Amino acid sequence: MDMIDPFGRTISYLRVSVTDRCDFRCTYCMAEDMAFLPKKDLLSLEELDRLTTVFIEKGVRKLRLTGGEPLVRKNVMHLVRQISRHLESGALDELTLTTNGSQLSRFAAELADCGVKRINVSLDTLDPQKFRTITRWGNLDRVMSGIDAAQAAGLKVKINAVALKGFNDAELPELMRWAHGRGMDLTVIETMPMGEIDEDRTDQYLPLSLVRAGLERQFTLTDIPYKTGGPARYVEVAETGGRLGFITPMTHNFCESCNRVRLTCTGTLYMCLGQDDAADLRAPLRASEGNELLSNAIDEAIGRKPKGHDFIIDRTTRRPAVSRHMSVTGG
Ligand code: SAM
Repeated sequence: MDMIDPFGRTISYLRVSVTDRCDFRCTYCMAEDMAFLPKKDLLSLEELDRLTTVFIEKGVRKLRLTGGEPLVRKNVMHLVRQISRHLESGALDELTLTTNGSQLSRFAAELADCGVKRINVSLDTLDPQKFRTITRWGNLDRVMSGIDAAQAAGLKVKINAVALKGFNDAELPELMRWAHGRGMDLTVIETMPMGEIDEDRTDQYLPLSLVRAGLERQFTLTDIPYKTGGPARYVEVAETGGRLGFITPMTHNFCESCNRVRLTCTGTLYMCLGQDDAADLRAPLRASEGNELLSNAIDEAIGRKPKGHDFIIDRTTRRPAVSRHMSVTGG
């Protein structure tokens, strides 16, 4: 029954981008004047539920909702509630989401009530002015209130920060102390060349090998085997007692243990974050009321999951590795 790709990797983790829209415009993620999908092209929440259910029947044990910003999709909690039945039945181990935190004050309690235990909140700086600059439209106070609400609701929060040269590199020790001081893990991520943005990525790119070396001048980092089912490698920080994760799609290829595929809000399945190849699942979804066509299309797609990605950021490589923005698949 399990989905196994040509390289023997079992696919047990599905990320679902429920909308391509976002209430922020992070400069490394999107261009300022992004064109979004017409609403009519989106799968309905019922269709997303049906699709995810088929994936769960085929062996997915962990499901992450993302976007765009997942919590700006209208009635998204209806979908969360629907999917949560698979937690109750034991078919799914974990339902989680990645969010910018702006809507958490509204939704944290309900997420917890639906069985969500952990969430990732993306936050690149604790400076309100810099936060406004990097998100173009975001309000740091709102995100902070959202994090408060999430913790008050009993959700375990992990902070994700993209390491950006000349922007937050000097601030990462403070961000880590703050996160660990509140009982939250911090994961730093290398910026990836996805989609045209208004800036030159070479100016932003910061290899995490440098970040780690910088942190090691102040902190004692010990590698630990801790895993959350995603691509991060973790260390324990002796001085804070907290955990720090590194996601290194640029400097260290972690594709050999990839267990993930990504579904967009139009029903397109990407078998690799760093490749253009994709499978349309909307047509088989809509072609019949039964799930056989869909199931076959998923098998066919998994059968061509590529070995890995090849991201390059340098001055001679002007074009992004893939033309779509991160907001299409949500990371
Ligand atoms: N809106 C939600 C959020 O902010 O977490 C979910 C979608 S967002 C696209 C998911 C994650 O991708 C965020 O942590 C964001 O910082 C990160 N991201 C966006 N563009 C990226 C890029 N080019 N390279 C690396 N990470 C990126």
